Amino acid sequence: MAESGTVAGQFQALYGSRPDGVWSAPGRVNLIGEYTDFNDGFVMPLALPHTTVAAVSRRTDGVLRLHSADVSQGVVQLSVEALEPRADTGWAAYPAGVVWALRAAGHPVTGADIHLTSTVPTGAGLSSSAALEVVTALALNDLFELGLTGAELAVLAQRAENDFVGVPCGIMDQTASACCTEGHALYLDTRDLTQRQVPFDLAAKGLRLLVVDTRVKHALGDGAYAERRAGCEAGARALGVPALRDVPYGELPAALDRLADEGENVRRYVRHVVSDDHRVEQVIALLDAGDVRAVGPVLVEGHASLRDDLRVSCPELDLVVSAAVAAGALGARMTGGGFGGSAIVLVEEADADAVTAAVEKAFAAAGFTAPRVFTAVPSGGARRLA
Ligand code: ADP
Ligand code: MG
Repeated sequence: MAESGTVAGQFQALYGSRPDGVWSAPGRVNLIGEYTDFNDGFVMPLALPHTTVAAVSRRTDGVLRLHSADVSQGVVQLSVEALEPRADTGWAAYPAGVVWALRAAGHPVTGADIHLTSTVPTGAGLSSSAALEVVTALALNDLFELGLTGAELAVLAQRAENDFVGVPCGIMDQTASACCTEGHALYLDTRDLTQRQVPFDLAAKGLRLLVVDTRVKHALGDGAYAERRAGCEAGARALGVPALRDVPYGELPAALDRLADEGENVRRYVRHVVSDDHRVEQVIALLDAGDVRAVGPVLVEGHASLRDDLRVSCPELDLVVSAAVAAGALGARMTGGGFGGSAIVLVEEADADAVTAAVEKAFAAAGFTAPRVFTAVPSGGARRLA
């Protein structure tokens, strides 16, 4: 994490005064429950130790100044009253969108100076965008004394990304960044937004969760997301349910029979979503029972479902999983939207180096770009640092 004193010093050098405060918000990985969030289903992310740190001061003159140490663009200056959804302001659309969403919800945000920097890898499927939105939302919540909860800030941050930036993401990423707690995964019901902190203390069990960033992003991603989403909605319509979340796992075979006329793709998408919701429930039961090792095979099943039924994996992600499991990992799966991005690997602490080396070796042998591997310590959500 960037030091809050360093970020405050950078703020002062940039804007000429000390910030009112410094806040941080983490990136996330999703343990299980993929492509379930737009089906009203279940997800289970954990926050990473990687964070976006923002130094922020309140303004009352309608001016919004934005600066990121991580992009070469200088200070972006905007008027809070003139903020327009989809106006192309590049990276600044994310924090500007949060200001817009807060104001659209009736909160009196009258301007701010913001300087930030992040250790969340961008575009790796680890939700640097949600970290950026949530840190902005939390800072403004504190500075303008809005009194919103983390879950409420997450909804506004999602609105910023959906309606202002124009990315049709679900509610998982922002909720994870806002609400996760150390040593836990966050169970979230994306229909009613109930949540529960589920114990996930890996170190105490002698285990480690690795994140393998493949550093590839295949172009297919955006269109495929929309197509999967439409397919799931078609499946729910044909089954006469509001969303696929309403198909009980025990009734999956019968539901698939009833979808005979919907085409093979819809049937495969339905099978993935209904079975992944079930895998979330399985993982919760295992973690509640303290049987963390048994989560490994569930991750592998989840990967197979994303690869074979939803078809959103790619050769690099498949190779992480096969190489890690062959080298003794307890389990592994792609995480996030797929077509590149990152995979997670559950390993015995003692095997972590050997499994990492095996994945790196397999990538080299396949002629792939060397992956970036790090440990996902289940960390806390957004908070004020200074
Ligand atoms: P992900 O959320 O998986 O990392 P996205 O494409 O959703 O990938 O979001 C990445 C985008 O978010 C970047 O292209 C950039 O516009 C913005 N962003 C994230 N972190 C930063 C940062 N530290 N500084 C500036 N922009 C950032
Ligand atoms: Mg994102």
